[in-house]
Amino acid sequence: MALWGLLLLGVTQVIVSIVLYLAISTWLENQVNSNLLLTANQVASVLYDPEDIENPLDIADVRLQLADHNIATQSFLRDQLFFVRLIDISSGDILATSADYDIPVTTSQANETSYETVGFLENDDIDEIRLYTLGLSYAPQIALQVGVSLEDIREIQGDVMRILVVLLVFTGTLAPLSGWFLANRALVPIRATVRTAAKINEADLTQRLDITASEVELEQLAQTFNAMLDRIEQAFQRQRQFTADAAHELRTPLSIMQTGLEVTLSQSRSPVEYHHALVSVQEEVQRLSQLANTLLMLVRADSHELPFEKKEVDLSLMLNMVVEQFRSAAEEKQIALEREVAADLLLEGDEDRLIQVVFNLIDNAIKYTPEGGEVCVMAQRFKDGVEIKIEDSGPGIALEEQIHIFDRFYRIDTSRNRNRGGFGLGLAIAKRIVDLHGGTIQVVSAVEHGAQFVVRLPLQQRTQPYIKV
Ligand code: ADP
Repeated sequence: MALWGLLLLGVTQVIVSIVLYLAISTWLENQVNSNLLLTANQVASVLYDPEDIENPLDIADVRLQLADHNIATQSFLRDQLFFVRLIDISSGDILATSADYDIPVTTSQANETSYETVGFLENDDIDEIRLYTLGLSYAPQIALQVGVSLEDIREIQGDVMRILVVLLVFTGTLAPLSGWFLANRALVPIRATVRTAAKINEADLTQRLDITASEVELEQLAQTFNAMLDRIEQAFQRQRQFTADAAHELRTPLSIMQTGLEVTLSQSRSPVEYHHALVSVQEEVQRLSQLANTLLMLVRADSHELPFEKKEVDLSLMLNMVVEQFRSAAEEKQIALEREVAADLLLEGDEDRLIQVVFNLIDNAIKYTPEGGEVCVMAQRFKDGVEIKIEDSGPGIALEEQIHIFDRFYRIDTSRNRNRGGFGLGLAIAKRIVDLHGGTIQVVSAVEHGAQFVVRLPLQQRTQPYIKV
């Protein structure tokens, strides 16, 4: 771009210089021409003798005037660089002349009123003279020629030419230098950006671009880039956390199994003892496989590979069915399991995934509500969708915990919850599925006042089901 700019500048300057030179030359020539015209007319009127009607032009007198010894006339002519002569039109003879220059008389010169530039030899130098020929009205056979040397004008033209060339050379060197300098300066922040960007890798995502660039566009670029880096860093952080948590969760059942097996194998056991040991291993294997399935589902959802079947779901039917599945578990804890589900709540979605949401929420409600408590499942139309509420009379969730409970592997009371079988993934999965359906999930709760989970789902999918949260 800089090179194109320079080329354009160079061509423009050459054109401007040529036009300027030609304009000055034409103006100078016009000056000379009008000067000659004025002088020729003045000389013609001076030569006219009104008293001698027969012969108003006295050639002899003119010769005398122009002769070398006539100091006044000669010095005037020399100072003004003028040359004057009279020509006989018919013969081409020079009747009188102020200087003996070797300038031939041509017939066109003699017969026409014209301007002409003539070169002639003087002291071995070629001199140029601009001639103006004027036919004399009072002496029809005679033409007056006034000339002026073009030496001064050629000098001025030379000076103009030199100045323009110097200017061209000057700007021709200065422009590329300043262009190079400016381009370099403009590239400094870009180079810094490239260097910083090159340093950013998986291991170190903390580097950020300097956003105090002088150019607004670069500043915006740096801000956008930094915002992108923030998002990438957070995503990486979440990913690392997820992997670390997953490994941690896997380690617990594995170490329980290992310890159990070591203890069992440390001495010979009765068949009943072996049976107990195997049952406990089986329980942990079940936990592990449940965890593996859940993790797989989350990873698939994250990489947009989760199969999502979109079809009409009868939510009323589905809710009643899931609630009934928990009937015996609720009775076991003497929990009153109520339901207030409106009929014919139809919506578009993935039935299996929605069952999972409701299942996780009711499971939590029954799991965390102490014996003798209450759990109520409600569903009704809400604006242009459906609202499901799962309410319990359990311990409730403190406000500061509420923002975290949908995070992966987040458990409020880790030691207590593990005994109840949770990985801290139930709500994360529920949220992910609700998000995929374009809905929302919220919790309304206060400590010791139970919890209410509110899920709102649109009747139809407006967006693609794969939404990155
Ligand atoms: P978990 O599998 O451990 O139940 P969840 O993701 O389902 O994990 O829940 C996260 C945390 O939120 C739980 O550890 C629990 O402490 C809290 N929680 C969830 N549901 C309820 C509820 N109905 N009442 C009280 N606490 C709840």
